Amino acid sequence: MSWLQTNNKKRIVILGGGMSGVGAAMLATQRGHDVFLSDGGVLKDAFAKALLDQHIPHETCGHDMEQILNADVVVKSPGIPDTATIVQKILEADIPVISEIEFASRFTDEVEIAITGSNGKTTVTSLIGHILQIADFNVSVGGNIGQSYAAQVAEAPAEYRVLEVSSFQLDGIKTFKPKIAVLLNITPDHLDRYDYKFENYVASKMRIAMNQDEQDYLIYNADDPAIIEALKIYQPKSKLVPFSMQRQLEYGAYIKDQNININLDTNSFTMPIQNLSIKGQHNTANAMAAATTAKLLQIRKETIRQSLASFQGVEHRLEQVLKINKVQYINDSKATNVNATYYALDSMEKPTVWIVGGVDKGNDYSELYALVNKNVKAIVCLGTDNSKIVEAFGSCVDNMVETSSMEDAVRVAYKLAGPGDNVLLSPACASFDLFENYEDRGRQFKNAVRAL
Ligand code: ADP
Repeated sequence: MSWLQTNNKKRIVILGGGMSGVGAAMLATQRGHDVFLSDGGVLKDAFAKALLDQHIPHETCGHDMEQILNADVVVKSPGIPDTATIVQKILEADIPVISEIEFASRFTDEVEIAITGSNGKTTVTSLIGHILQIADFNVSVGGNIGQSYAAQVAEAPAEYRVLEVSSFQLDGIKTFKPKIAVLLNITPDHLDRYDYKFENYVASKMRIAMNQDEQDYLIYNADDPAIIEALKIYQPKSKLVPFSMQRQLEYGAYIKDQNININLDTNSFTMPIQNLSIKGQHNTANAMAAATTAKLLQIRKETIRQSLASFQGVEHRLEQVLKINKVQYINDSKATNVNATYYALDSMEKPTVWIVGGVDKGNDYSELYALVNKNVKAIVCLGTDNSKIVEAFGSCVDNMVETSSMEDAVRVAYKLAGPGDNVLLSPACASFDLFENYEDRGRQFKNAVRAL
C-alpha cells in the first residue's frame, strides 16, 4: 500500500521514542500527517530534543489511551513485544500495527535491498553499501544499523536503499516488498519473543520474501537446513538465488579451488578467497551474498573485486585491535550467540585465549566443543554468573579463570597468552550483566588492551 500519491491526512501514532520511532515521527510529520508519539519510559536526550525541535506532539512515562486509540495506524518500535498490554489494547481496537520499515517503505518506490539472518546482517548490509558506493550508485544504507529507514526517506531521495532488517521489523510488515532480499542464516536467537518456538522465529525471517513476486530475487544460504526446510513450507514466488560454501552450484554462488564463483543467467564472476579483506568462513559466505547482490544489480566485476578487497569490516565483529608482544587481540563483542562465536573460533589460526560469558540466552555450548579443543588454549570467563560456562568447558582446557570486570579479564588473558597466540573476546552471550550493551563491552575491551 503506497502512500506516495495520497494527500489523505492520517492520524499516525508511534509507539516508542528510540531511533526508529523518532525517525517515523519525523517522516510522518514531514509528509503532513497528524502525529503523536508515545513512550512508556524516558527518552534519550538526543531523541527528546529532535521531537521538541520539530514540535512533534509526544508523551513519555506512560500511554494516554485516548490519544492513541484514535489512530488510523500505529507504528511500533521493534523493541516492544506484541504481548505488551498497550499493543494488545490497540489490536483489540482493530487498529493496524506496523513496523517502521513497513511505514517508511510506503513513502518510496525506490529499489529496496533487504538483508536479514541471525548473524551477519550488519556485515553484509555494510558490504553491499560499500560496493554500491564504489560503483557510484546513489545509495543509502540503514535500517537496523545507523539511521532508521524512515529518517533516511525523510532526509533525501536515493536510487537504492540497502536495509538491515531484523525479525522484529519483519513481524510488522504488510506490504514491504524488497527487489532483492538476502537471507543469510537462521539459527536460534531471540526465542523469548517467539514463544520459545524456533519455527515461529523461522516464520518471521521468511516474511522478508512474502510480498516478493517473480521479478524479485531471494538470495539465500543453501547450506542452512532451516532455510531449505522453510523454502519448502513457504514457497516464495521470487527468483531463488542460492549461495553455498559446501556444494558447487549450476546457478548461484559457490566455492571452487579457493575461489568464489558466481553463475547467473548471462554472467559470471570469480575472485580468489585470499583477496577478500574480511577473513573466516562466515565472511566468505557473507562476501558471496554481497557479490551476488552486486551482480544482480549489474555492477562491473572489477568494481566488485575492488570493493571486496577494500572493505574495512565493521567495529566489534572480529575486529583486530592491537598486537602486543606478538599476541593479537581481537574484539568480537558483537558475538552475542553461540553461532557467531562458532565462526569466530573457527577462524582462529593460532592458539587462542578466549574471553567468553555474559547473560546466557539459553545457550547450548556443545557445538563449540570440537573447536575449543582444537583452537583454544585457555578460557577467561567474564560474567556475573559463569557457572554454565565453567560446567560446559571446564574439562576442555587446562586453564580457566573466572573474572567479573573487563580490566581483569584482559589482564588475565595477557598473562595466559604467549608469543604467536590470539586473545579473542567472543562472548556468545548478551552483555547486560556488566555492560550497557555490546558496543560498551567492545570499547571497554579495546581500552583495556590499549592500557596494557
Ligand atoms: P548481525 O547484524 O546479524 O548481528 P553482524 O554482522 O553484526 O551480524 O555480526 C554479528 C556476529 O556474527 C559477529 O560476531 C560476526 O563475526 C558474526 N558473523 C558475521 N557473519 C556471520 C555469518 N554469516 N554466520 C555466522 N556468524 C557471523
